[in-house]
Amino acid sequence: LSFRTPVRDLMFSLTEVAGFSDLHASGGFPDYDAETAGAVLEAAGQIADEVIAPLSRTGDQTGARLEGGRVIAAPGYREAWKAFVQVGWPALSGDPEHGGQGAPKALAAAMLEATCAADLAFSLCPILTMGAADALDAHGDERQKILFLPKLVSGEWTGTMNLTEPQAGSDLALVRTRAEPDGAGGYRLYGQKIFITWGDHDCAENVVHLVLARLPDAPEGVKGISLFLAPKHLVDAEGRPGELNAISVGGIEHKLGIHASPTCTMLFEGAAAELVGAPNGGLACMFTMMNAARLLVGVQGVGVAERAFQKARDYALERRQGRSPWSADPAALLVDQPDVRRALVLMKARIEAARGICFSTAVAGDLARCAATDMARAAARRREDLLTPIAKAWSTDVGVEVASSALQVHGGMGFIEETGAAQLYRDARILPIYEGTNGIQAIDLVGRKLGLDGGLAWRELIDDLIWAVEDMDEPELAEVRARLDEGVRAIDAAARWLGERRGGAEALAGATPFLKLVGDVTGGWMLAKGAAAALRRHPDPAFVRSRVAMARIYAEQVLAGVAGQAEAVTAGVGDLAAMDMADLAA
Ligand SMILES: Cc1cc2nc3c(=O)[nH]c(=O)nc-3n(C[C@H](O)[C@H](O)[C@H](O)COP(=O)(O)OP(=O)(O)OC[C@H]3O[C@@H](n4cnc5c(N)ncnc54)[C@H](O)[C@@H]3O)c2cc1C
Repeated sequence: LSFRTPVRDLMFSLTEVAGFSDLHASGGFPDYDAETAGAVLEAAGQIADEVIAPLSRTGDQTGARLEGGRVIAAPGYREAWKAFVQVGWPALSGDPEHGGQGAPKALAAAMLEATCAADLAFSLCPILTMGAADALDAHGDERQKILFLPKLVSGEWTGTMNLTEPQAGSDLALVRTRAEPDGAGGYRLYGQKIFITWGDHDCAENVVHLVLARLPDAPEGVKGISLFLAPKHLVDAEGRPGELNAISVGGIEHKLGIHASPTCTMLFEGAAAELVGAPNGGLACMFTMMNAARLLVGVQGVGVAERAFQKARDYALERRQGRSPWSADPAALLVDQPDVRRALVLMKARIEAARGICFSTAVAGDLARCAATDMARAAARRREDLLTPIAKAWSTDVGVEVASSALQVHGGMGFIEETGAAQLYRDARILPIYEGTNGIQAIDLVGRKLGLDGGLAWRELIDDLIWAVEDMDEPELAEVRARLDEGVRAIDAAARWLGERRGGAEALAGATPFLKLVGDVTGGWMLAKGAAAALRRHPDPAFVRSRVAMARIYAEQVLAGVAGQAEAVTAGVGDLAAMDMADLAA
């Protein structure tokens, strides 16, 4: 049973939950109304379902390989990448000045969700390429933009993000790669980067590496990091790729999942490079790419969850086991077992909640660029900044949870590789780790985002939630309204408690449970918005029923727990601090 891109759900989430129509109304995207967005997603879904999804199994089994020092992509990936480039998907939200189609990032996020669901390993290539193009667009000089941007925007060349080193993971202050002036206005890079996604491959003509490194006189720590561009093939004045740069692949990692995404050790052995942005200003530049990538890793969580859900639903619609109170059949379908049905509905509810959060973050990012007034742009920027760590961490946790539930629905067959449920679980497990671990996202939420603009970003979110609760007058949603109201109060109280302890051990220890609860409540809001919109104007009664049921079941099963779980945020660190890790010894 194969994957089908849920175009109707994607469109509903964009337009009825995330506020996509605000983008068209802002005048910033005159060519992209809801109808055009729907046509784009239909076409993107076709490529995802028919060209990319069929590769994911063989990609998992075969993986990418290193041959003669260069990476050969898994079978079929080269052709799939060419097809993906030919239909113009990498360029969808690119700057028209450099060959892009100028679509909202929110629409690109929906297109990428379909790609991620079809094959997570494949999706990393366009995601990093689009991120590299954004970073260069924002921080590159005119010559760099002319030489590199059109090729990155079109996807003829791909991009990478080279941050991690053996001693520098979450803590980029420890980056050691050196950049030495070459005497002719350029630089030579020396150092080793590890875990570089799609660091090398044979799908595109060139690979543009964005690399964090230190100049000779750089100060210690993050204030001494600069951003460099180093292409795999050196590029002449006309932009033609020529001889190989001094960058080699030290190896490809053997991983738990995403086997077709080559995770490379990259050796910079005097590689010719050019500075992007100001000297020592590299981290700020890289944040353009990292923030976009964080949101899109959240989208990856939604995509893999959608694929896992579809697989579990289809299996539960075929497999018969045991009697059911809802069926006369002595061997009922799994979907008629209340426990399995609850699991399936919660899986789908979490997906819709996370999708709503991710698309809302993307719409806020688009409005931050194109809203009509300075004030509206600033408010949208605050919302994007606040939601980004939640979109990344909560949605990727949803990805792992849903993939795990989907495997469970398959019973023993889930543990057997043949069904593909196990692959999705293995693939999903990277998502809470890369692009800033979910622990680091939680610390970002508590340490930086809660206090953003003197706490205004948080206040605005809470005010929107309160307003949404007050506005919800559908009798079908009375319980959802009550649970959401409790949840909003609980997270706001927890935020105040954390705010009084910002930077201290108590706030750091409470960060992960806090982010989870904020995600739970914000997700509940997304489901409530969807249910209310469906009740008000959706023509299909089955769709309306499903939206209302999802919101209500989520409220009973998830929101009902928020107030109690808030105690985990405010528990403090007394016992933790008093503990000697030797106490845990056997
Ligand atoms: C498959 C894969 C692909 C990747 N792709 C890329 C890529 O393309 N480019 C790139 O540059 N990197 C990439 N990475 C690296 C990835 O971003 C890092 O692995 C990640 O940021 C975590 O760093 P680390 O592995 O060194 O873990 P560490 O930083 O050592 O963290 C270990 C644990 O400690 C926690 N921790 C660390 N510091 C703190 C702190 N201050 N407070 C609280 N908790 C803390 C973390 O949350 C984590 O749970 C990739 C990694 C993998 C596995």
